[in-house]
Amino acid sequence: MQKAIEDLSELQAIDLEVFRIDTQLRELPDKVADLKTHLDRIYGIIDREKKQLAEDDRYLAELQQEVQMQNELLAKSKAKLAGARNEREVNAAQREIDMIKGAVQIREKEILQLMETVETLKKSIAAKEEQFRELEEGFKAREAETKAQVEKIEAERAAHVAKRAAIEKRIPRETLALYDRIRRRKPQAMVEVINGNCQGCHLQIPPQVFNEVQRGERVLQCPNCTRIIYWRPAKTSD
Ligand SMILES: [Zn+2]
Repeated sequence: MQKAIEDLSELQAIDLEVFRIDTQLRELPDKVADLKTHLDRIYGIIDREKKQLAEDDRYLAELQQEVQMQNELLAKSKAKLAGARNEREVNAAQREIDMIKGAVQIREKEILQLMETVETLKKSIAAKEEQFRELEEGFKAREAETKAQVEKIEAERAAHVAKRAAIEKRIPRETLALYDRIRRRKPQAMVEVINGNCQGCHLQIPPQVFNEVQRGERVLQCPNCTRIIYWRPAKTSD
């Protein structure tokens, strides 16, 4: 009986290690994925700002073209004024000039404001692109690191699995089946009984079961949590 417990202990140590490895293997790619999500988000913002910039640039060009057109009209009106033959023509030409000048003034103010907006946008894009490059470098390093880590851990896992196969052969079939069944829901499927307490659920084992587990004649389960229980005589300090 003690032999079976020793073998199961050895098996459980491996299983718990594989369980830990599997958790690690699941979580490692998640961390890389989080970084990627963050990168994608920044990329999305840069993309939006670039589209906004292109739109602003296009509108700016339109405004500048309009001012140029108005200036051409202004030159014509000024020529009219110079060639005016009477007061009525002078007044008409002057009114045109004033109107055009007013329109140009409004447009020029708009152009200045837009130029400022464009400048701010360009700085924002440059800063975000710099941030993106730095993060991307970190991401690539992390990705490579994770890949190497995963390979190493997977090799460790394979070694554990091979070792388990060897130990399995030494354990009675029904004991192994029971252990594996419990393990599916409770990774720590076998626990020690210390001072009459199951170390899995921390409840007191009934006295008759405790007596039996101390005798160690057969495989026993905790009546409460169903884990396989075993008992070791208290170590004497020597
Ligand atoms: Zn228990």
